[in-house]
Amino acid sequence: MIFLEAYAIIRKKRDGERLSPEEISWFIDRYVAGEVADYQAAAWLMAAYLRGLDAGETLALTEALARSGEQVDLSGIRGVKVDKHSTGGVGDKTTLVLAPLLAAAGAKVAKMSGRGLGHTGGTIDKLEAIPGFRTALEREEFVAQVNRTGVAVAAQTEKIVPADRKLYALRDVTATVDSIPLIAASVMAKKLACGADVIVLDVKTGSGAFMQDAAAAHELARLMVAIGKRAGRRVVALVTDMDQPLGYAVGNAVEVTEAIVTLKGRGPLDLTELCLELGSRALCLGGLAANLKTARARLEELLLSGQALRKFREWVAAQGGDPRVVDEPELLPQAPQKIPVLSPRAGYVVQINALAVGEAARALGAGRRRKEEGIDPAVGVLLMAKTGSRVEAGEPLAYILAREKGVAEAQELLAGAFTVAVNPPKTRPLVGAVVEK
Ligand code: URA
Repeated sequence: MIFLEAYAIIRKKRDGERLSPEEISWFIDRYVAGEVADYQAAAWLMAAYLRGLDAGETLALTEALARSGEQVDLSGIRGVKVDKHSTGGVGDKTTLVLAPLLAAAGAKVAKMSGRGLGHTGGTIDKLEAIPGFRTALEREEFVAQVNRTGVAVAAQTEKIVPADRKLYALRDVTATVDSIPLIAASVMAKKLACGADVIVLDVKTGSGAFMQDAAAAHELARLMVAIGKRAGRRVVALVTDMDQPLGYAVGNAVEVTEAIVTLKGRGPLDLTELCLELGSRALCLGGLAANLKTARARLEELLLSGQALRKFREWVAAQGGDPRVVDEPELLPQAPQKIPVLSPRAGYVVQINALAVGEAARALGAGRRRKEEGIDPAVGVLLMAKTGSRVEAGEPLAYILAREKGVAEAQELLAGAFTVAVNPPKTRPLVGAVVEK
């Protein structure tokens, strides 16, 4: 019987018809229960990939996924609960800066993060590069820490959105990952299940992004904002540039170091600007600032006065990490080798292929291809130049921070990642669009 009903739902989508919320929810519930087979779910995913899902179907899918596991109750947290999500990029350590910055501004940052498959680790892996830092927090501990310090970032448990985990594994092997409605539902189900009032989305576009095409990134942003609003959350999405890595550091421990420098007010311009942009929007949406101008001024002040850095120390200590890393970065894991990648000519850096830099970091061991793989927190890539930098022949464009693994591959990838030309490039805006509805 179930087999036949699943068959009918697959056929309907295959033929381009619209599925009702009941049909979508039935299919997802039965799939999680193991009553709909993997091969049926795979067929449904391909039908949805090819035929698309409209806004109503995408919302129904998001809600069905979100309901498939634990819905985190944050009602024990006093104040405006803020969450942030990035669709992922190379050198993206934004959360490490933004979380304490927003907490210092009075927001309650309650974030759960997946480990993810990336060129470098996800936020959780980066935080775990700090000696002692614990990311497995019990729910009561998580809530108590946010109430006490204003910030907690914990690893998402298996109990949150199990349907997405199951479906994502199928998408990964059936060429159905890069569907805008499927991505929007997958991301927003996790955000809705994690319970925040305010959700700030950073949708990346460019060579190092999941959505390389700006129009597709924009559409994804619009869809995610619409889903969040229909579910009663305050949501904003920024479509931001990921055509070159964010900041200079790509790896895990090196990104922690760069985040700390940024919290000291001396960070790379792009990373600092992105944190101020995302942070101002979060404060306004949360009713913690009257307008973007005052929000930004407040955040700048928190960076310059050292209050955001103090909050970072407090946060690290609250999760068992060693807060001395703030003043003694050598306490973070260090790679034994530092190998320069030299510029073949003099000129301007006109392009840095972010994907190639990310792949170099992964070859060294900074990221993983499969969930069960470990990562090496010490290794990575440190850029010495960004797009628009003037370089001389023989000057280092980057340093490879390595143990033994992947050095030759990283050298080759990085040699091809930089384009150096006679004339300076046109600059790309960091924030391409702000999507509020
Ligand atoms: N990230 C997610 O969480 N889900 C997707 O489908 C793609 C990226």
